[in-house]
Amino acid sequence: MPIFEYACPACRKIFSFLVRNPAKPGKLCCPQCGGSRLKKIYSSFAMVHSEESRLEKMADPSFFSGLDEKNPRTLARLMRKMASETGEEMDDEMREVCARLEAGEDPEKLEAMMGGGDSGGYSRDTSGTLYE
Ligand SMILES: [Zn+2]
Repeated sequence: MPIFEYACPACRKIFSFLVRNPAKPGKLCCPQCGGSRLKKIYSSFAMVHSEESRLEKMADPSFFSGLDEKNPRTLARLMRKMASETGEEMDDEMREVCARLEAGEDPEKLEAMMGGGDSGGYSRDTSGTLYE
């Protein structure tokens, strides 16, 4: 089952959500303040090499087949696949990141760029809880 990370702008926290049906995600609320303005975080996929243990727990490992962390293009392909499977439009930033990955840019550099936006100052929920 896919795990997505969402950030709550009110709490400045990042929570992990277990999404049973990525094609039809329910309305997610912040576990802390109940706010519904959660923003999806894609950075865990840009940092896929540090999230391997988490990804291994995913129900469908074939989803990540073909992912080569040394080849940014495979990461871009995965991000596009993820967007189409969840039915979510990629925003301009994501499109730019994908385009840059496909051009062979260093994912870590792009990660820093993405983190430099409004996700700055967020801290991760450290309880290890998977919310639904
Ligand atoms: Zn909140």
